[in-house]
Amino acid sequence: MAPSPTRVVIVGGGFGGCFTARRLERIFGGGGAVEVSLVNRDNYFVFQPLLPEVASGAIIPHQIVNPIRRMLPRTRFFQSEVDGIDLEKREVAVLVGEGRQHHRLPFDHLVLAMGTVVNMSGMPGMSQHSLPMKNLGDAFYLRNHVVGCLENADIEPDPELKRALLTFVVVGGGFSGVETIGELQETIEAVLPSYPNIRRGDVKLLVIQSGPRILPEVVPGLADYARKVLEARGVEVITGTRCQAATADAVLLPDGRRVPTRTLVSTVGNAPHPLLSRLPVKREKGRVVAEETLSVPGWAGVWALGDCAHVVSADSGQPYAPTAQNAIRQATVCADNIAAAIRGRPLRPFRFRALGSLASIGRRSAVAQIMGMRFSGFVAWFLWRTIYLSKLPGWERRLRVALDWTLDLFFKRDLSQLKVFQSERVDEAHYEPGESIVKQGEIGDRFYIIARGAVEVVREDEGGLTCTRLARLGPGEHFGEVALLQNVPRTATVRAVEPTDVVCIGRGDFDAVARSFSLLKAGLQQEAIRRGPS
Ligand SMILES: Cc1cc2nc3c(=O)[nH]c(=O)nc-3n(C[C@H](O)[C@H](O)[C@H](O)COP(=O)(O)OP(=O)(O)OC[C@H]3O[C@@H](n4cnc5c(N)ncnc54)[C@H](O)[C@@H]3O)c2cc1C
Repeated sequence: MAPSPTRVVIVGGGFGGCFTARRLERIFGGGGAVEVSLVNRDNYFVFQPLLPEVASGAIIPHQIVNPIRRMLPRTRFFQSEVDGIDLEKREVAVLVGEGRQHHRLPFDHLVLAMGTVVNMSGMPGMSQHSLPMKNLGDAFYLRNHVVGCLENADIEPDPELKRALLTFVVVGGGFSGVETIGELQETIEAVLPSYPNIRRGDVKLLVIQSGPRILPEVVPGLADYARKVLEARGVEVITGTRCQAATADAVLLPDGRRVPTRTLVSTVGNAPHPLLSRLPVKREKGRVVAEETLSVPGWAGVWALGDCAHVVSADSGQPYAPTAQNAIRQATVCADNIAAAIRGRPLRPFRFRALGSLASIGRRSAVAQIMGMRFSGFVAWFLWRTIYLSKLPGWERRLRVALDWTLDLFFKRDLSQLKVFQSERVDEAHYEPGESIVKQGEIGDRFYIIARGAVEVVREDEGGLTCTRLARLGPGEHFGEVALLQNVPRTATVRAVEPTDVVCIGRGDFDAVARSFSLLKAGLQQEAIRRGPS
């Protein structure tokens, strides 16, 4: 009998995860000795540095993503949410399928590459009213939102409301904030001739940075250059200021200033991934501490890299910055060291000195610092485009992006507002007799109210041999709250016994209502105790 393969499980399909898998595919080929699995929420890899270009409409969203199955043909891919990691039992819990059932992936080697999450809870109103800039959906949404603001402003009779619609605020003056405001400015200026009722002077763009200068990643001279260029184009650059709060209508600054706006973009608020806080590993500011070899101390066969890892550089004594540049290089070392560990060979350390930094500021201008040399203006912009193009995975994507950029030089930016609606938050559904609405053992992510018909609540024993009927519920009654309130899998199955219509409320909305409406939450909790698990 053939020996079972060594199982490598990678959590996260960003720069760290995908490039580790790609290197492992190259090392081990398609042989069966090593089985590589990768779990990612989306079925594509996103080239995040080009998100601001998607937000401005310079690139079509599809061009900066690669389907992971195509990128990694010899890797077992799971488009799922990782829900838990058990380092003792050496398995990863993923939620699979429509019913979000738990599935366990055992591993011999585990690669932690899940990046960071956005957490804006530190500033009142920010999580509710700001638009993040982290994934493809954010960039796509922002582009359409900006076009929507221009459309509304063009026909808005109330001057105050018109001013708010034409005020665009970006919080965060690092690379992504500066690139976002630069791209927005370029796009808005390019499309304004199509809006006869908006004058150039009606549009206000602001970038707010808490530190003393924008672009702290580059030398002060280049940051000053970027600031002057942005200001010359009418962008107000506010430094040394932390936003106090955000509301549906405005952003509030510490000096008492209230800036009415309908567009508040946040490029700050990156926080450690919550899954990491549950691991019995050493952490530094929430990131997993890894050795120079990228192995996690105390856990043989566990590796961490990219934004979720804290790896100290032997040269500088400082942790490596959370950049794509570092994540890609760490991925090579991580894969090589996994291969070395499997083959019983010595591991090598990750040593890398960043080659430089680049930031586009829109309108064919950028700042760049590459291997000690400084560039600004058009030359820097040309370098910026060439370097990013060369880094995009796959020739097809490179060609498509190059084509988009070339067309952008000759044609006007598109101003169609593509309305992509979120699925209804409060949904209605119909079930015929015998159909299950929730199934025992599933992860509960909805709360249900019966509008018409009747259901029965049944519980199966462990072996599934016997089934106990717990209740029959009718119009006006509800179910599904226990799994949401107690965060446990469904403890019973609910199925229709008549043609039944239900109103379904998703977990996010249920949590938001239960959090703020204490009477409802207390009532549901009491009812759950009275009924017992359901
Ligand atoms: C707008 C923007 C511009 C940037 N510009 C630059 C730049 O110019 N240069 C540069 O070097 N860097 C840049 N960066 C930073 C760079 O993109 C990150 O450093 C890099 O993406 C980190 O790679 P990673 O693999 O660690 O994390 P990520 O690329 O964030 O990948 C993590 C992946 O894990 C997945 N994941 C997370 N949790 C789960 C879970 N529970 N279950 C399943 N999947 C999960 C996520 O969906 C994601 O796909 C930029 C970032 C942004 C947002």
